[in-house]
Amino acid sequence: MNPNPIPDPDQTDIRENDILFDCPYCGKSMAIEEAGAGLMVPCAACGKEVQVPIPDASTPVAPVAAPRAGLAVGESPAETVRQLDAALAMANEQIDRLISEKEALQERRAYLEQIRGGQIARLEQLAGELARLQESLDRALSLLADIRAEKPV
Ligand SMILES: [Zn+2]
Repeated sequence: MNPNPIPDPDQTDIRENDILFDCPYCGKSMAIEEAGAGLMVPCAACGKEVQVPIPDASTPVAPVAAPRAGLAVGESPAETVRQLDAALAMANEQIDRLISEKEALQERRAYLEQIRGGQIARLEQLAGELARLQESLDRALSLLADIRAEKPV
């Protein structure tokens, strides 16, 4: 497995999950497929063995990092624009995904409020039943008191 140099006229397409990294010896920017994480690979420029970084939250992945890499190595303006367009499309996709996540959450919240509304209605019904029970009990106790009062000693 060999890393692709950036930029390379023949290898300009960086896939979404590619790992982007720089050669620690010559500073060459390279991209390698995700499966290359942690492997020792020859640098595309100087040929020295370099370890592919293992991506984590702090490691930029393509294509978000692609425009920065493109700008840093001074690619043609057209290529930079193409990469910025790709990053912009990616950002728009992320925004769309966040919007649909938000909509899903709002639907869920509406559903939960509906359930809660149903529970509140049932609790109010229960409170009404309890109030009627209390009235009946009060009447029964009152009658019982009357009966006891009238009971001959
Ligand atoms: Zn190198």
